[in-house]
Amino acid sequence: MKLVRLIYSSAVTRDMSLQDLKSILDCARSNNSGLGICGMLCYENNYFLQVLEGDRAKVSELFIDIADDPRHDDIELLGFEYIEKPLFDNWKMGYAGGSPIFQKMLEKLEMDAFEPGKLTPRQALAFLHHLSSHQSEI
Ligand code: FAD
Repeated sequence: MKLVRLIYSSAVTRDMSLQDLKSILDCARSNNSGLGICGMLCYENNYFLQVLEGDRAKVSELFIDIADDPRHDDIELLGFEYIEKPLFDNWKMGYAGGSPIFQKMLEKLEMDAFEPGKLTPRQALAFLHHLSSHQSEI
């Protein structure tokens, strides 16, 4: 099995309620665990930032489905690389919601607002990983 990590950013096409986010998360939770895919989805400032880790073919197929979802567009692939082992041990969604830790991370990146398309692949991964260990799930 060839393990890969894929990171992308996107912009919402309409306002997302907590219920909208929950329904994406529920769907991702049940599908991704069945596919052996881990990672994290972060939502803030009308942008998504997502990392997917798992089998190359499965991650590619899932990404194509996600990219087709009308709830977001302006999808930008930030990174795609082979990995030895996953960094994320399960599937999570971080709803940032302006938490102090999130604000601190933005300050560190010298960003006034969350604009994930401006992050390098390394910054995006560090951001998601840091968030995954500090953020409560919804
Ligand atoms: P269906 O639910 O039948 O979807 C059919 C079509 O309708 C698809 O194009 C779907 O994208 C779209 N759709 C579904 N619900 C809505 C809605 N409420 N409003 C508008 N269009 C809708 N899925 C995962 O399995 N894993 C993930 O990690 C994952 N991450 C996502 C991240 C983001 C930012 C978004 C927006 C969606 C994500 N999804 C994820 C959902 C994914 O895009 C698909 O909706 C899901 O895989 C189910 O698709 P389906 O074709 O099997 O089923």
